[in-house]
Amino acid sequence: MAHEVTLIPGDGTGPELVEATRRVLEATGVQFEWDVQEAGEDVYREQGNPFPDATLDSIKRTTVGIKGPTTTPVGSGFRSVNVLLRKELDLYACIRPCKAYAGVRTRYPETDIVIVRENTEDLYAGIEFERGSAENAQVRELLEELGSHVRDDAGISIKPISVFGSDRIVEAAFKYAKENDRRKVTAVHKANIMKFSDGLFLEVARQVAERHPEIEFEDRIVDNLCNQLVSRPEEYDVIVLPNLYGDIVSDLGAGMIGGLGLAPGGNIGTEAAMFEATHGSAPKYKGQNKVNPTALMLSGVLMLKHLDEREAADRLETAIAEVIRKGEKVTYDLKPTRDDPTAVGTSEFADAVIEEMNA
Ligand code: NAD
Repeated sequence: MAHEVTLIPGDGTGPELVEATRRVLEATGVQFEWDVQEAGEDVYREQGNPFPDATLDSIKRTTVGIKGPTTTPVGSGFRSVNVLLRKELDLYACIRPCKAYAGVRTRYPETDIVIVRENTEDLYAGIEFERGSAENAQVRELLEELGSHVRDDAGISIKPISVFGSDRIVEAAFKYAKENDRRKVTAVHKANIMKFSDGLFLEVARQVAERHPEIEFEDRIVDNLCNQLVSRPEEYDVIVLPNLYGDIVSDLGAGMIGGLGLAPGGNIGTEAAMFEATHGSAPKYKGQNKVNPTALMLSGVLMLKHLDEREAADRLETAIAEVIRKGEKVTYDLKPTRDDPTAVGTSEFADAVIEEMNA
């Protein structure tokens, strides 16, 4: 039976990347029924809404989507489609595997980690009080009553971390570890300083770990983790983090495996899952058939696993890895120099992956 999947081309380089990814997914032989829906800057210009109801309704119905990047204009315009999506569908777990494939230039060739980032809480919860506002004054007054002084010219952001939110994200990390034959989960925090938010995260993580004795568990303070990741990456496996640290360490991971063009992701909730690359819409390359579709293709690999098409997922990942290892039919970012005339385009990279799968 065909899997019904919501397909969102996005904007900027999104449509080219999504088309390349759709082709390799279909070449696995898995049957898909695509429900193509709009999101991002282009549909905002046409309809005044970057995230039409039809798109949200489609994902709610199909429960699985794959999405090209979408531009978020700075300062004006609209809120990030990705933030809206995560909020509307409660996509609380962001899964970002960072694996250094052979053939990629990186100082960290042993890297094979999976970052599991909490998506809904922490300093990203949007609880903010602008400097000089009446609400800010009220919050400072309350804090004063409670014995804490905050300077009157301070902006304030609140960091909520709950037992509920921590439990489900650490549980998601253990679930991923089990389903993907991973040996260890590392919980990351700054519990020595933020005792009641990060401290709670760590306490809950330890409790969840007790429910999964077959998987090794450890914790690390976030600054120490960053140091160790770039000195001994091979010691890390699945890493679970609250929202802010997860965001930052995800980019560190992307850098360690050779760049944003290679870093996939999945946002997973109880009712739906949305797969997309870590990178943005790279608008300066729009329409040039130039950028690397690997990150979105590997997001497709994650989607295949989510759909329980494991054999197809492994075949597609192996083919992508092989094209990268050979290093001939790869995009500019995977060549020794960025102006290498032998670099192929987005679409030709997809052709090479399909050829490899059929070999
Ligand atoms: P970006 O990731 O779009 O691009 C930064 C640079 O990284 C590019 O100029 C390019 O050199 C490189 N790059 C990115 N993707 C690549 C690929 N597939 N292949 C090769 N090189 C690649 O980041 P940005 O310029 O900061 O953001 C552009 C827009 O994307 C912004 O509006 C931002 O809000 C949005 N964004 C969207 C998402 C998303 O939709 N999930 C994520 C991040 C940023």
